[in-house]
Amino acid sequence: MKGSKHSGQPKEGYTVNDIKQLVKDKFSSDNFRRMVNGQEIQDNGPVKFAELKKFIHSNTAIYVRQRMNIGSDMESHNTILFALQDELREMSTQSIDSKCMICAEKKQCLKFCCKSIICTECFPNYFIQHRYKPTCLICHEVLVPETCFKTSQFIRSLVQLNKRLSHYI
Ligand SMILES: [Zn+2]
Ligand SMILES: [Zn+2]
Repeated sequence: MKGSKHSGQPKEGYTVNDIKQLVKDKFSSDNFRRMVNGQEIQDNGPVKFAELKKFIHSNTAIYVRQRMNIGSDMESHNTILFALQDELREMSTQSIDSKCMICAEKKQCLKFCCKSIICTECFPNYFIQHRYKPTCLICHEVLVPETCFKTSQFIRSLVQLNKRLSHYI
């Protein structure tokens, strides 16, 4: 996939719509998904966007990706991370907010092996750090994707990606 780099300067006190407009101006389309720090910038409420803004400094890269049907290039890292955003909405979280083992805040969390509890916001970066392998924070066991994820397409893509990555380790 070819990539290109554009820079831009949002105005003071910018909102999620200014970011969208900036992307639209650069790429002459707004059919893009935008991501910063492993999290998607979407039509987040103002509170959520204010959280994300903390990660946007000068020279922060915002990754954009054209919306497309998930298909043959499903294996790339970027695609997996976007698919993960959708997958996180499918995954079952605990019914009451609990303390995330990464950010230590009480949030909507995913629970897996050995009471490992990670909030949906910390999950993407955790997942990248563990090379796209869901790893228990307590016993360090690598879990089979089926125990964590729901969608069979996502699991298949993940298995393919891990297979490809294992050639480089
Ligand atoms: Zn967290
Ligand atoms: Zn465990």
